[in-house]
Amino acid sequence: MAQVIDGKRISREIKDELKKQVAAYREQGTEIALAVIQVGQDPASTVYVGNKKKACEYIGIRSAAYELPEETTEEELLELIGKLNRDASIYGILVQLPLPKQINEDHIIQAIAPEKDVDGFHPQSVGRLSIGQPGFVSCTPAGIIQLLKRSDIPIEGKECVVIGRSNIVGKPMALLLLRENGTVTICHSKTQNIKEITRRADILVAAVGRPKMIDASYVKEGAVVIDVGIHRDADNKLCGDVDFDSVAPVAGAITPVPGGVGPMTIAMLMHNCVEAVELRKG
Ligand code: NAP
Repeated sequence: MAQVIDGKRISREIKDELKKQVAAYREQGTEIALAVIQVGQDPASTVYVGNKKKACEYIGIRSAAYELPEETTEEELLELIGKLNRDASIYGILVQLPLPKQINEDHIIQAIAPEKDVDGFHPQSVGRLSIGQPGFVSCTPAGIIQLLKRSDIPIEGKECVVIGRSNIVGKPMALLLLRENGTVTICHSKTQNIKEITRRADILVAAVGRPKMIDASYVKEGAVVIDVGIHRDADNKLCGDVDFDSVAPVAGAITPVPGGVGPMTIAMLMHNCVEAVELRKG
């Protein structure tokens, strides 16, 4: 039976480390503030935003909440972002996605000052990651690297397969595994003979967005399986992209849903807020 990687415990460990760093900054006179913008009242977004505010409170970061109505225009949101970009007391700006359809998400992401882009979605952050320069890294893949490192799972020289090529998970995940000297393959919806590829993986990351798609037939005996997906199954229970009951007996290690990758995303957002102080210092 696979080792179950405890994302809750590891995320708490990271948040406790950050809490000390934040306290040290405060003693030096620096108060870190994160602006959290939500447009509309999508219930899932409200839960995510609430969890982010709670994490801020826990580690001692001030969260400045902006709750805008559903009918907010792109111009109005751009104006707020411009104001927050110029506000020296704000270290990070987070715009909760998805946005209502009248607002172009790319325009919004590009309007955030790169030095306040704690989500790591700005093209400058993505470019820096791809050429190996310091900058903000998308929180979910950054959290997965921490899960592996803090579970003493080596990446260097390993066959790493990422299923999914989204800008926020799949692509940055592949770049980070490469940065850690893994040998990386990316699969997507047009990949042929996908199981032949995934069965080669020492580390398999599933970011497919399809409930329980990855069963034991995709997995090499002893592989480390990281499940990024978040879904509700027919019984309204949370589940991932991986069929845990099928894969756990075959894998060497596996992340559960909930309690695996999910808590790491918020921990790494907090990490990015703290890093914003260092980046500002240059
Ligand atoms: P996404 O934008 O929908 O991307 C899904 C990717 O999977 C695409 O690249 C797609 O390929 C590929 N794909 C779809 N069906 C496939 C198939 N049958 N075989 C192979 N590849 C297939 O999703 P995402 O934003 O990356 O998110 C993935 C999952 O992670 C979702 O369940 C999401 O809710 C979850 N998520 C969780 C967290 C967290 O904090 N835990 C954070 C972000 C996302 P094409 O490019 O060819 O379409």
